[in-house]
Amino acid sequence: MKMKLKPIVEMLRNLNVDELTEVMMILTGSKPETVIVDPIKSFKELILKRKATSLGDRPYCPHCQSHRVVKNGHKDGRQRFICKDCKHTYTWTNNTILYGMKISYDTLLKYCDCMMHKMTIRQCATCCRISKSSSFDWRHKILDALQNMHNEVVLNGIIESDETYFGLSFKGCKNPDILTRLPHKRGGSNHVRGISDELVCVPCSVNLDGLSIGKITNLGRPTTDELSGFIKGRIEEGSFFVTDSLNSYDQIAEDNNLTHIKIENGKHKNGMFNIQKINSYHSELKRMINDLFKGVATKYLNNYVVYHNFINIAKESIIEKAKILKEFVCSTLCNSRGYKVNLRDAIPV
Ligand SMILES: [Zn+2]
Repeated sequence: MKMKLKPIVEMLRNLNVDELTEVMMILTGSKPETVIVDPIKSFKELILKRKATSLGDRPYCPHCQSHRVVKNGHKDGRQRFICKDCKHTYTWTNNTILYGMKISYDTLLKYCDCMMHKMTIRQCATCCRISKSSSFDWRHKILDALQNMHNEVVLNGIIESDETYFGLSFKGCKNPDILTRLPHKRGGSNHVRGISDELVCVPCSVNLDGLSIGKITNLGRPTTDELSGFIKGRIEEGSFFVTDSLNSYDQIAEDNNLTHIKIENGKHKNGMFNIQKINSYHSELKRMINDLFKGVATKYLNNYVVYHNFINIAKESIIEKAKILKEFVCSTLCNSRGYKVNLRDAIPV
């Protein structure tokens, strides 16, 4: 059976997301999905908003933010612009992660497609014919861009909130100073039972529109201040805030003017409210990180949380998401000079 599948898998690898989706539709006999996305409650809205801040076909000057810019010929096949105020010339890629990139634009788009299919770093490398280290760098540049997009998300409506924990991981880390404890074997238990300082706490919130936020806040159990710092500015006033019985959430609901729905210990729901959505959010996140990617280093965990938010939780169709990802990656502002993915803190708290 395996021998028969191999050439088919090879062929599928060469298809883009649109083509793959078509194949899926033929196989499952489903009709093309109509994309119903309320633009006010989706990632799409963020893209539209961003577009509104550039001048149609002319991006703002990346040096002085001036609007007084005109087209100024082409460079390497790309439209060049000149700023009337500071006289600098630039292209669309200045101050984006595409600046100075060594792989082709087509390869980057293909890489985005691979990420839409949750391929591992190694699989992406093979598929795009780039080195494993280049694949690693691109994965995190793209996820950093996604993190930028994620930072603008504000939840409203009915929001379920809860924390989850991941074992500290220094996977792939070669600096011995940071290795304050021995990395455990994959799948092994942590050295201390229960919630200890060897676990990173990741509070997460998700609403019914499929928008979600999640971020490492601390090691071990979170304090009210730590949870509060996570929620602050990310949930609209007047929203319904559904949580378990952790006392910290009372204070947070009050501070942020949220209607608090508390699920008491041992209960599954409170009236029509429950925390099933956040529970399945967590199990899907764990499945992706622990099973699919075989664990990720703590320093990259935040990036994988937004990856999960975008790929598994957001409600747009896969075609729409691929478009959003490509568009955002190519336009998000990011100082790419001296950009080193692996220099971030081992424990980002
Ligand atoms: Zn300028």
